[in-house]
Amino acid sequence: MRARVTLFTPAQRRARARRVLLLLLLGALLSAPIPGWHFVGVPGFIAGAVILSRRRRRQEVLVHSLGGTCPACGGEQEIERAGFESLPASVPCPGCGEFLKLEALR
Ligand SMILES: [Zn+2]
Repeated sequence: MRARVTLFTPAQRRARARRVLLLLLLGALLSAPIPGWHFVGVPGFIAGAVILSRRRRRQEVLVHSLGGTCPACGGEQEIERAGFESLPASVPCPGCGEFLKLEALR
């Protein structure tokens, strides 16, 4: 199968992590003066900032789409919007439902 992927360099991963961290911390800052909402918004944005920035800092690859011949049924398959954030990953074949394990070639 062939895959359309984006590979992130360490610098790109740090930049993506920093971007989501700053955006969500801005959300926490803007939530602080809103009565009532700040009890939920501030801790929620801070927790989201930590979790999502950590996830983006570790994300090495983003799989956009897959295509090729299924080894189980032999049918030609196209999987758009795969959206995997890490490899290896499993995806069901749209034709036969058999799970296909995807691994990166090094
Ligand atoms: Zn199949």
